[in-house]
Amino acid sequence: MSRIPILDLNREYAHMQGAIDKSIQKCLKHQQWILGPEVAEFEKKFSEYLSVKHCIGVSSGTDALVIALRALAIKIKGKEYFTREDKIITTPFTFTATGDAILRAGATPVFVDIDPQTFNIDPNQIEEALTPDVVGIIPVHLYGQACAMDRICAIGKKHNLFVLEDVAQACGGEWKNRKLGTLADMGAFSFFPSKNLGCFGDGGMISTHDDRLAELSRMLMKHGGKDKYNVDHIGYNARLDTLQAAVLLAKLKYLDKFNMRRKKIAAIYSKELEGISSILLPNAASESHVFHQYTIRVSDGKRDQLQTRLKESGIGSMVYYPVPLHKMAVFKDRSVVGKSLTYAEKAAQEVLSLPIEPLLAKPEIVYVCRKLIRVSV
Ligand SMILES: *Cc1c(COP(=O)(O)O)cnc(C)c1O
Repeated sequence: MSRIPILDLNREYAHMQGAIDKSIQKCLKHQQWILGPEVAEFEKKFSEYLSVKHCIGVSSGTDALVIALRALAIKIKGKEYFTREDKIITTPFTFTATGDAILRAGATPVFVDIDPQTFNIDPNQIEEALTPDVVGIIPVHLYGQACAMDRICAIGKKHNLFVLEDVAQACGGEWKNRKLGTLADMGAFSFFPSKNLGCFGDGGMISTHDDRLAELSRMLMKHGGKDKYNVDHIGYNARLDTLQAAVLLAKLKYLDKFNMRRKKIAAIYSKELEGISSILLPNAASESHVFHQYTIRVSDGKRDQLQTRLKESGIGSMVYYPVPLHKMAVFKDRSVVGKSLTYAEKAAQEVLSLPIEPLLAKPEIVYVCRKLIRVSV
């Protein structure tokens, strides 16, 4: 047990190899590579899993966000794109794609601060940032933890704003017994290999209860029309790949079991690391957390040093994310910054995610904790 990487996909593949290989073999036999039968089958299975009316497979989580926003622009504004005057409120403490998708859909991101307890967007800050030109909100269920969806949906309803959930890190997670990605107007999922449900390359999914948004998303995903030789909208070539759908069909069966394991591992971490004064543990009691990451905080500027020492001890860890979006060049002059983003900036300097691969055994987690305790004093 000398090395524990942040993620070991070989182990997962070995665990499910029979089912995955069988699913891929089927594709090799039928050779229908573009929107083959696995895509429709996976869309159906995934919509049943979520209990949502429509699921539209797309080529990545980023494309899911862009296409969902474009569909919203067409439905709400009757225009292909939003304009720079249209503002969309989101968190600066997320992966770049959340903010980038807003720019690519033509709108302006408004970054507001997070709740330091959950790392998720703070509903009070959303309310403070409301202006007449705000058209929507994108809550991101960061690290697998659900945002305060009751409050966020209520704000959306009251002010006639769309709510698009970024579910890239919280696949299978719930908020009050309803699956994330089904609580608002639309949901955007990523099947990037390291996500809770990952494929063997890029893949994504759009979820919605709304017939019109589903129809528009499906059109935009394949060139912008129902007929690809006679199109209505400015579309993309952003289909979910047949092979990826085949892999996802095999892996979906393991998702709930694996999310349970993630919760168990998180509980082991929290028990083993309790009382270590130099680190702050995540708010882990929550029912609404599927622990895409187990993320601790290390204050006093000691995070990077701790990460280096862990690495020297053979323990992998990652910083998600070192730079909040409002500090990136791409968003400079293209975004609006909320009153204060202190908590997001502090989080970027303090967070450290530890290995939480579902197949890690308890002794391995305990080993990580021992090493962590040793190097953090
Ligand atoms: C991974 C991720 C995305 C983008 O998904 P891709 O499939 O990599 O394009 C978007 N938002 C968040 C929060 C993510 O973690």
